[in-house]
Amino acid sequence: MTLPPFLRQALAGALLAGLGLSVLAPAAVQAAAPQVRTQAPGFYRMMLGDFEITALSDGTVPQHMDRELKDAAPGQVEALLARAHQTLPVETSINAFLINTGKQLLLVDTGAGRAFGPQVANRLVGNLRAAGYRPEQIDAVLLTHVHSDHSGGLVVDGQPVFPKARVYLDQRELDYWSSDEARAQAPEQKKPWFAAGRASLAPYAQDGRLRPFNAPQTLFAGVSVIPAPGHTPGHSFYVVESQGQKLVFWGDLVHAEAVQFPVPTITISYDSDQGTAAHHRLAAFADASREGYWVAAPHISFPGLGHVVPDGDAYRWLPAPYSLGVEKR
Ligand SMILES: [Zn+2]
Repeated sequence: MTLPPFLRQALAGALLAGLGLSVLAPAAVQAAAPQVRTQAPGFYRMMLGDFEITALSDGTVPQHMDRELKDAAPGQVEALLARAHQTLPVETSINAFLINTGKQLLLVDTGAGRAFGPQVANRLVGNLRAAGYRPEQIDAVLLTHVHSDHSGGLVVDGQPVFPKARVYLDQRELDYWSSDEARAQAPEQKKPWFAAGRASLAPYAQDGRLRPFNAPQTLFAGVSVIPAPGHTPGHSFYVVESQGQKLVFWGDLVHAEAVQFPVPTITISYDSDQGTAAHHRLAAFADASREGYWVAAPHISFPGLGHVVPDGDAYRWLPAPYSLGVEKR
């Protein structure tokens, strides 16, 4: 029997639909696959002129920002977090940043290592490897400051994680954390931070690989450091420039982006001098929004790369738009 074409098509369609139904039915059973529940490797790359910048995640750590943030009106922190659809505790990123200048490999901060225990953070080295580099390739570590979520990754079991790296930090930062007098004067809950900081620096000091500087100064071609005290006495910003592009590594200027961009005067308990920290935050927001350069921040949601723009009387963070433009073609 010969069927007209339109009927053949209709029959074929019906047959396929029937097959489709019979094929689709078992697929519903396959949907019971176990949930994988892992995240993508934590690195993100961009080019800054001739320099390759790689943001490296050390993980996230839950923070009770309602307790830690200071100089806010009652309920203000909770209201700002709610406006940003964030719940307490806030899952705060710990980011570090790798700069490949083409001549040297520089790591800005090291993450916490095991400072918060092996299960919290402690992902930097894994993500460094996932990003295509090895710890022994790092030529220099540039510390924004010595708090353990920035310097804890320097050591594991007393051994240096970066066996060839020199460690750069402000002389005032080194002096502060080395001082028994400063430790004696510190609030009780901050006293253990001195032992932790000293332990992170010790193997590098013993090898003669500490490089204290007096900011502001140029450290390498295209890489300089400026003082930004307040969060700690020797807290530093690193400034990287290549081919007319500029990126400023802030250190701990912002701990809660949903709160401190709209209200930059809100400080955090971790600041050693909250008034000076707030002053530097306002000045840095104004400068970044006026000049329009890139910013890298350790505790802004990973990858912590973006720009600052004015928003009414305050500021807003614009995260880097995701881009494959870094790839070689
Ligand atoms: Zn800090």
